[in-house]
Amino acid sequence: MEKTFFMIKPDGVERGLVGDVLKRIERRGFRLEKLEMRQIDRASLEKHYADLVDRPFFLGIAEFMMSAPVVMGVIAGPGVVASWRDMLGATNPAEAAPGTIRGDFATAPTGSIIPNIAHGSDSLESAQREIAIWFPEMN
Ligand code: UDP
Ligand code: MG
Repeated sequence: MEKTFFMIKPDGVERGLVGDVLKRIERRGFRLEKLEMRQIDRASLEKHYADLVDRPFFLGIAEFMMSAPVVMGVIAGPGVVASWRDMLGATNPAEAAPGTIRGDFATAPTGSIIPNIAHGSDSLESAQREIAIWFPEMN
């Protein structure tokens, strides 16, 4: 069964949206295979966002992602990689469609793109790579 990696970022946890996000996963019919609350470390985060570490905004992302615990996990289901991305909505909360997680919850009054509630792997390859980083015991 196809799997993807998700994270509820520090803003989602601090705003009490863990239940809302998990509810959407379960309502959609995806199976939770892993679920864990964790304070993330910088080395793993740099591996996770390997394509972003050289960007000027990475420092801000790293500071935000390590500012408080996240809830991370693995979900499984047919087409789950693309479906979960659809459920998240656009990266920039200001552009995320209503009905999506980011469109419904990530109001971003500051205009910042960084706090956008949740993460999802962007391809099958990314999903496998990210699951291996955060849950190496699954391989
Ligand atoms: N991000 C940002 N500014 C950007 C692009 C990304 O602050 O211009 C942050 C944002 O939190 C995003 C994360 O970095 O969720 C990872 O970026 P990516 O392009 O992979 O977006 P995602 O896959 O999360 O939609
Ligand atoms: Mg991404």
